[in-house]
Amino acid sequence: MSRFMSARFSSLEEYVPGEQPRDMQYVKLNTNESPFPPSKEVIDAINLEEVSKLNLYPDPTAKGLKERLAARYGFGVENIFVSNGSDDILNFAFMAFCDKNCGVAYPKISYGFYEVYAALYSIDAKEIALKEDFSIDIRDYFNAGRTIVIANPNAPTGLLLSKEDIKKILDANKDNIVLIDEAYIDFGGESCVELVHEYDNLLVVRTFSKSRCLAGARLGFAIASKELIQDLEKIKFSTNPYNINRISLLAGEAAIDSDSYYFDRAKEIMAAREFTVTELKKRGFTMTDSYANFIFAKHNKICGEEIYLKLKSRGVLVRHFSKTEITEYNRITIGTKEQMQVLINAIDDILEKKGCAK
Ligand code: PMP
Repeated sequence: MSRFMSARFSSLEEYVPGEQPRDMQYVKLNTNESPFPPSKEVIDAINLEEVSKLNLYPDPTAKGLKERLAARYGFGVENIFVSNGSDDILNFAFMAFCDKNCGVAYPKISYGFYEVYAALYSIDAKEIALKEDFSIDIRDYFNAGRTIVIANPNAPTGLLLSKEDIKKILDANKDNIVLIDEAYIDFGGESCVELVHEYDNLLVVRTFSKSRCLAGARLGFAIASKELIQDLEKIKFSTNPYNINRISLLAGEAAIDSDSYYFDRAKEIMAAREFTVTELKKRGFTMTDSYANFIFAKHNKICGEEIYLKLKSRGVLVRHFSKTEITEYNRITIGTKEQMQVLINAIDDILEKKGCAK
C-alpha cells in the first residue's frame, strides 16, 4: 500500500475472484461461467460497423437494451436498470440503500462480495448464520430493520428459497429494501421478479454472465419500482454514466432476442448437473440440492482442500473456500457433459490412488 492510500481503506480486504491460471489448459469449473459460447445472434450483432464507432461514447441511457429487457420481463423501461455486470449493481445498491443509519443483513455463507461492499462503505453488517443443512431460516430476516441482501439460489450452496418465502420476507420488512440477487435463477429456480408489481421495497438483480453465456461482456440488470431505479441511476450518473460499452450493449440486445438458445443451454446444464450429482454420490460425495449452475460437494473421506489440489494437478479447476464452516466442500461449476466426465475420471483416479475407490 502506498503512503497516499486513504486511511478509510487501509484495512479493507478486497474480493478475491476465482483463479484464472495461464500455466496450462484447465477444465475450468471454478467461476460459474457458461461452457457454451453466446448465441449466433450475439456473435453476428458484434459487427465491424459498431467497432468502427468505438471513437464515440456509448448511449448512457442504454435505451435499446432497457427496452428489450422491459418487453421480455413485462415491465416498463422505467423499471429497468442496466450496468457493467451485476457486481456493479450490487455496488450501487450498497451505496444507495445502506449507510450509517441503515445497516445490511445477509447470510453468513453467501456471495463473498457482500461483505466487501459493506466494509468498503463502512456499513454495519449483520451476517446471519445458515441452518446446519446450509438452508436459510426466513424468520431470521423478519423485521430486520436494515437492508436485506439474499442470493437466490444462494452461492455457494445452490439452495433455493421459494417465491412464497421471499414474499414473507418482503411482508415482514415493508420499510426496508430487500435485494434478491438472482444471478443463478435460470437453472431451475422460480424468479420473484413478478413481485416487483406488488412490492416497492423489492430490488431484483440479474446477470447476463451465467445463463446468457456473456460473462466476458460484463452485463447485469435490475428490476424494481421506478423510484428505486431512479436512485440507482442517480448513483450511476454520479460515478460512471458510460458504464456499458457499445459492444456489450449490442451483445445484450441480441442475447434477449435469442432467449430460446439460452433456455436450451440452461436445460443442458441442468441435465449435466443431474449426471454429476448421481456420479459423485456413487463415489462417496454428499451435496446440497443445487438449483444453480454449480454444485457444492464434500467427500466422506478426503478433505475439501486435498480434493481441490489433486483436481488442479490433474487439470480440473474447482473453487475451494477457506471459511471454516465450508472448508470440507468444493464448489464445482457445471460445464458440458464431456467436461463433467473429465471431472469424474479425475475423481476416480484420486480415489483409486488414495485406496478409497468405489
Ligand atoms: N451475484 C452472485 C451470487 C454471483 O455469484 C456473482 C458472480 N460471481 C455475481 C453476483 C456477479 O456476477 P456478474 O458481475 O458477472 O454479473
